Amino acid sequence: MSDILALTAAQAAERVHAGDLERGELWRFYRDRARADDLNAFTWVCDGDDPEAIDVSGPLGGVPIGIKDLFATEGVPSQAGSKILEGYKPPYTATAVRRLMEAGAPVVAKTNQDEFAMGSSTENSAYGPTLNPWDRARVPGGSSGGSAAAVAAGTVPWSIGTDTGGSIRQPAALCGIVGLKPTYGAISRYGMIAFASSLDQAGPFTRDTTDAALLLGAMAAPDPCDSTSLGLPEPVRLPTATDLKGIRLGVPEELTGEGIEPGVLAAFNETLDRARELGATVETMQLPHAPHGLSAYYLIAPAECSSNLARYDGVRYGMRADGKDLLSMYTQTREQGFGNEVKRRVLIGTYALSSGYYDAYYGRAQKVRTLIANDFKRAWERFDFVVSPTAPGVAFELGAKTADPLAMYLNDFCTVPMSLAGIPAISIPNGLSDGLPVGFQIAGPAFSENRILDAAHALEQSIGFDGSSAYA
Ligand code: GLN
Repeated sequence: MSDILALTAAQAAERVHAGDLERGELWRFYRDRARADDLNAFTWVCDGDDPEAIDVSGPLGGVPIGIKDLFATEGVPSQAGSKILEGYKPPYTATAVRRLMEAGAPVVAKTNQDEFAMGSSTENSAYGPTLNPWDRARVPGGSSGGSAAAVAAGTVPWSIGTDTGGSIRQPAALCGIVGLKPTYGAISRYGMIAFASSLDQAGPFTRDTTDAALLLGAMAAPDPCDSTSLGLPEPVRLPTATDLKGIRLGVPEELTGEGIEPGVLAAFNETLDRARELGATVETMQLPHAPHGLSAYYLIAPAECSSNLARYDGVRYGMRADGKDLLSMYTQTREQGFGNEVKRRVLIGTYALSSGYYDAYYGRAQKVRTLIANDFKRAWERFDFVVSPTAPGVAFELGAKTADPLAMYLNDFCTVPMSLAGIPAISIPNGLSDGLPVGFQIAGPAFSENRILDAAHALEQSIGFDGSSAYA
C-alpha cells in the first residue's frame, strides 16, 4: 500500500501542516484515484489542479473530500442522483460544504446516491448503482452509498452524506467505515437538496472516529440561512477515551431480537463483552415504540417529500420535457424525470396528506414519533447510550431487494427510531460476518456528540478493525 493511502485524513493533514507532504501531491494522488474509480461511486470527479483558494493551514489540512451529489456546489453538477436534475449546476454552495472548504478541505468529487436520498442500496440512482468494494456483486447500502464505498475503497480519504432514516449509518456499516448522524440541527441544511426536511441531517463518513470528529467540528454551526440550525453547544473535541469506566449502556430488546441476522448479532454480543471489559455496565432495556418507527417514518418522510419535490416542474431546475400545453409539460417532465421509488413516495405522501386522511395517517404518525422520542428520554434517566446493531444484515446482492420495497425498508429498522427522535448516533466497524462488514451503533441524547465519539473511540481501539483489504 502506498504511504499516502495508509494515512487517515487526520494523519495526512498533520503531514501537510508539518511540511512533510505537499498539498499538490496529496490532491493529485486522490484526484487520480477517484478518476480511476470502477465502483461507480462518483457522479463527478474534478479534473483540475489543487484549488489554490483553499487555505490548507486550516484544521482539515488540504485533505480532499467527496461530497454526496445532493449538496449544492457552485458550478458543479448537483443532481441528487436524479434525472430530473441532470446537468443542474447551482449558483451557490451548501453551507456545510462551504464550511469544509473554509476549514481546508478541497472538493475532489461528488458521490453517487439513491435518487433524492430515497433508498437503502444506491440502486435507485438515475446514474446506475454503486458497487460495494468488499464484494462487487453486492450493494454498498444507501442512500449515501457512493460516499461510503469511496471511503471504504480509499478513492477519497473522507466524505460527507446525509441521513434521513439511516442513510449515513447503514452504508457505513455495510462498507466497514465510520458514519455519524449528528443531532438534528447541528449542521445547516442550507443547500442540501431536500428529501424530508424534519429528518434530513448531514454528517461524515471516515475511516476512524478522529476523522469524524474533525469533519463534524468543521461543519457544525448555526446558520442564518437555516432557521432549524443550532450548531453544537460546545466545540467538538478529538476523541481520546480508551476505556468506558462508569458508562451505562442500554441494549433495547426491540432492536436486538427477531430479524437481526445471527452473524450480526454474534458480532454485536462480542462487542458488548469488550464494552464490559472496558468498564461499562450493559443492561437490556425497552424502547416499546421503536418497532413502530418504520411505519411512522414511511408516512412522515413521503409526506414531506411530496411537498418538497413539488418544485420540480420543468420550469425552475434541470430537465424539461415537451408537452402540448403547460400542464402536460409539468406532468411529462415529472413522468420522465423521476424514478419509480420517487414516484411511489410522492404518491404515498400526497395520499397521506389529503383532506380526510391527514389525521388518520400523518397526524397519527407524528404522535408515534413523539412516543418514540419519549422512549429515548426515559432511557437517558438510566443509560448514557443506547447500543444496537446498525443494520439487520450484511451487504446484500445487487437486485436482491429491488422488487420488494418493504424488504428494502426493513434495512432501516435499527436506525429510523433515532432519526425520528432527532438524536445523534454513530456506526463504527464491528468486524466481519461471512467476510462482510458489520456495524455497531451508539446513540445518545441530543448534543452528546463529544461523549458518543469518545465511547466510539474506546471501542474502536479495542475492536481494532482493519479495512485496508477493501482498498482499490
Ligand atoms: N432508506 C431510508 C429511505 O429510503 C432512509 C434514507 C435516508 O436516510 N436518506 O427513506
